[in-house]
Amino acid sequence: ADAAALWRARIRDVPDHPRPGVVFKDITPLLADAEAFGTAVEAFADIVARHDVQAVLGLEARGFILGAPVALRTGIGFVPARKAGKLPGPVHREAYQLEYGTAEVEVQHDALAPGQRVLVLDDVLATGGTAGAAIRLVRRCGAEPVAFAVLLELGFLGGRERLAADFPDLPVEAL
Ligand code: 5GP
Repeated sequence: ADAAALWRARIRDVPDHPRPGVVFKDITPLLADAEAFGTAVEAFADIVARHDVQAVLGLEARGFILGAPVALRTGIGFVPARKAGKLPGPVHREAYQLEYGTAEVEVQHDALAPGQRVLVLDDVLATGGTAGAAIRLVRRCGAEPVAFAVLLELGFLGGRERLAADFPDLPVEAL
């Protein structure tokens, strides 16, 4: 509970970013505070242990910052899910809906082993579009998504409900 209070205190509301009318949750103050960052990594590490996770799939870009220390801390590998066109070699690609248009995320073909138990990790769950695409990518690799974890969810955007509809048995863990 103390850790959660510190995380809340270190996440800043930025009005009108990236567009007018949007209140952006800025996690950079949390990253700059070693105690807040460290306790968040520990909390993600508990999720890794609880779900017997074998690899962390982090979403570009803040999912890299959070996911890499979690993987190191728990002694498992880190795999990046990147925006289209960044990763070399054969990739799986999944498109998802944005407010205006679509976006795509990619994972390398051989990044995950068949049956490997994967935690998909990002900073924020909003509509769930990004998470859904990442979860589908894990499955396309033949691996098993066992949970989706974020620092925080924006509950009013319905991401949790959308993920529950598309992936009924997948736990969604928001610190
Ligand atoms: P979704 O696909 O769930 O609508 O949006 C989640 C993705 O957009 C995540 O990759 C997340 O990093 C980013 N995102 C959306 N809103 C915010 C926000 O308010 N703060 C931060 N830090 N990221 C956000």
